[in-house]
Amino acid sequence: MNPASHAQGEPIVRIDKLNKHFGSLHVLKNIDLEVAQGEVVVVIGASGSGKSTLIRCVNGLEEFQQGALRVDGNDLKPDGKASQALQTIRTEVGMVFQQFNLFPHLSVRDNVTLAPMKVRGESRDKAEATAERLLDRVGIKDQADKYPTQLSGGQQQRVALARALAMEPRLMLFDEPTSALDPEMIGEVLDAMRELAREGMTMMIVTHEMGFAREVADRVIYIHKGEIVEQGKPEEVFDNPQNERTQSFLARVL
Ligand code: ADP
Ligand code: MG
Repeated sequence: MNPASHAQGEPIVRIDKLNKHFGSLHVLKNIDLEVAQGEVVVVIGASGSGKSTLIRCVNGLEEFQQGALRVDGNDLKPDGKASQALQTIRTEVGMVFQQFNLFPHLSVRDNVTLAPMKVRGESRDKAEATAERLLDRVGIKDQADKYPTQLSGGQQQRVALARALAMEPRLMLFDEPTSALDPEMIGEVLDAMRELAREGMTMMIVTHEMGFAREVADRVIYIHKGEIVEQGKPEEVFDNPQNERTQSFLARVL
């Protein structure tokens, strides 16, 4: 259990009967999910089960066709057109991807200051002070003048984390943040995420790192073919899975 998580107030994420199709492919089926403030939810499931699509719906990177999705009081509608709610969600929700997606032509510092300056209109001085603090927090303050290609994968992913945090997100989404990393670099990224969880950040994390999931998650959600078939505390899901799909998935990955 994460001691810093005090579920309270209105959930940050509220998903009701969400359905998502890619053409004839029904990718998410009647997803119901609430994420409370400060809660850490880890999403697990086989490749192709819809984990990325679910995460991407939460910050409006994917449209959905039926159901309701509310993020920090902002309602995204089915077949959502560009809306004020979508804009707000984009600035309030941070995302870290498997491929770090840093801007290759910008220094580490400029990667972190760009959105605060452009989107929030912060002064360069203020944005750079924040960048320095965040880069220090993720252990790479001395890399600020380098370019992404000069860094290891683990360092690049920590820049991506600092860049997301610079927008002071209400919610952080992670989609397999360590899957593209060499094994010796996974720990440093998980450490930074662990720290963030301890500080009370609300997080939705897709990962195959089951040890990390067990340690950091308040709740684990197992998705099979676009449906949530099981969820619970990590010790419930990992040690005593009820659904046979969960059992066979865990038998393969644990
Ligand atoms: P996961 O992240 O669990 O591996 P995804 O959410 O990426 O799964 O994909 C779920 C299903 O949706 C898969 O069958 C995948 O092939 C399909 N899919 C994902 N993105 C697209 C897309 N842009 N267009 C068509 N099909 C897609
Ligand atoms: Mg995925």
